[in-house]
Amino acid sequence: MRLACRQSRNPYKPKREAQSTVPNRRAKDLLESIQILGQLEGLDKGGYARTYQAGGRAYRTGLHAAVAELLDSLGLRYVLDSPISEGLKLTADFLVDGRTAIFVGRRLSRAEGRSARGSGKRCVLIEMSAARSDSLDSGLRVADLAREGDGADAPIAGRRQTIFLDDPSFNFDYAHILPKTEKCSVMHGHTSSALIEIVGSPVDGMVVDFNDAKPIVKKAISDLDHKLFISERYVTGRTATHVDLSFSTVHGEFSLHVPKETTVLLEGEATVENLAQELLRRIAPKMPQNVEAVGVYVYEGLNKGTHLLARLHARGAETRRKR
Ligand SMILES: [Zn+2]
Repeated sequence: MRLACRQSRNPYKPKREAQSTVPNRRAKDLLESIQILGQLEGLDKGGYARTYQAGGRAYRTGLHAAVAELLDSLGLRYVLDSPISEGLKLTADFLVDGRTAIFVGRRLSRAEGRSARGSGKRCVLIEMSAARSDSLDSGLRVADLAREGDGADAPIAGRRQTIFLDDPSFNFDYAHILPKTEKCSVMHGHTSSALIEIVGSPVDGMVVDFNDAKPIVKKAISDLDHKLFISERYVTGRTATHVDLSFSTVHGEFSLHVPKETTVLLEGEATVENLAQELLRRIAPKMPQNVEAVGVYVYEGLNKGTHLLARLHARGAETRRKR
């Protein structure tokens, strides 16, 4: 076998040694040399700038990419770097559905703030503050411009904080069937784990007491543990105790008669995305009133999974749980 790399001449070696543009190795001279200056210029022009990818596009910062991913996952339509209104200079990093302007990682000046408020658009500021983050605080700040400085009853002037819960008791096993796929149309199982994030305005310095939140999540997870997940569209009959399911797959027809107790019927297919939705549906209504959004990360086995973040709508009936 002939090895391509065994060439007699190194193809990367220039034919003639170019004269060095680095006069000597002292740092000062190095900086003044043409070679280094050229590279620095490249850096200035953004030639070496880092970009962040999401949905096949490049973004300025990881936070921009994360926001894009979130909006994509919610199926929202948005325009990038768009003036918030016609004739206004102020541009939003994301203009969502023509109604919500999102500013990422930047502060608005007073004039810009006024202009944003007067635009009739809902304006949301998202910034990352590494200086403030610690093990209990992600450092992510989301603020609604309309609520900023609303008055004494706003707990911390519209500032929201996030907590997350990750616990071994959030591990669970499940079986599922995805009749429309080839491999997963045969009943099989996964060992999964979930991580929950809770976003809200802190009350007495807490978004929610970990000791209050953990049992809610634990109960929801244990209700899903060791269950069969399948879409309700495959139900062909029900008795008091059982459900009949039937579906055709690339492998042929399947007919199942399964106990109701051990089956979770989902509106959509039993994907990890819809499973996360089901988990969220069970957790969200039990959160105290100051909680504005709940996110769930559900792993499917190892290394892959889904993230779902849902805003909770104003709820009147519930009162804040005791701390
Ligand atoms: Zn699977």
